[in-house]
Amino acid sequence: MEQATPVKFQLETEPASSRFQPQPDVYSNSITSLYGQTEFASSNARAALVIAHPGHELLVHGWLELARPCVFVLTDGSGRTNEPRLDTTTKILNEIGAKPGSIYGRLSDRAAYSAILNREFDIFIRLAKELADAFIAERIDYVAGDAAEGHSPTHDVCRLIINAAVKIVSPPIANLAALHREDIWLQLEEKAFARKMALAKGYTTLTSEVSAALSRASADAYRIECLHWVDGISDTRSWDGERPFYEDYGEKQVAAGYYDRVLRYHDHLEPLAEALSSCAEKEHLTNAEVQ
Ligand SMILES: [Zn+2]
Repeated sequence: MEQATPVKFQLETEPASSRFQPQPDVYSNSITSLYGQTEFASSNARAALVIAHPGHELLVHGWLELARPCVFVLTDGSGRTNEPRLDTTTKILNEIGAKPGSIYGRLSDRAAYSAILNREFDIFIRLAKELADAFIAERIDYVAGDAAEGHSPTHDVCRLIINAAVKIVSPPIANLAALHREDIWLQLEEKAFARKMALAKGYTTLTSEVSAALSRASADAYRIECLHWVDGISDTRSWDGERPFYEDYGEKQVAAGYYDRVLRYHDHLEPLAEALSSCAEKEHLTNAEVQ
């Protein structure tokens, strides 16, 4: 379910202000770590990006150019309108030389939403296992992706799937969530920023999301891209206040007659998080025994 406001990739535990610095050449495909985390910051590190919806990749476009990750997209971005928007994302990836992953627009947004509502945990458990297999097959060193912030249930589920997949893989890989501003990770130079903004404005099926994003924060906020370490446990509920935004939003949508039921954290997301976590724990132990 895509809502009017865009994804905000989430801030995680530690301040990362100068953890990474890009090389001066934006296409050098090399990220220098100031903190010695060379296992995934080296120029040879293999990255994955896992996002709930096509279009989220724009928020970390500068990093995308540097890391050229394998990109996994959960839904086709069809939202309530049922119009898929994967093609524009595919074009962006092709231009950069980033490749689509094995999970690429697997579910329609409606299917994802109703699977969460109907507590069809198996769908998401299978996706987490498949993602873990892909991380191994692609020899991924680190993964970045959506954050759980209580805004969109599908974004939050994407984060749960990433965390479960990371947990399954043994030996472990680094797990990061991305944020478009506040802390510094990459400060885009002019040309990289111009490419990012041109793509955002040219992503025609994202027009309302892009203009909403630009009305809330100045365009300059998008010069900065962050990736933060994810603490898998605290990551499932990181919103302020008693309940996530999507419950308030869901109540309005139900009142307006768009949906029958409200998707809620305690009824739907929390049990899914538990199911994924215990499956990942089991798979991890099996993997560790095999090694
Ligand atoms: Zn989204």
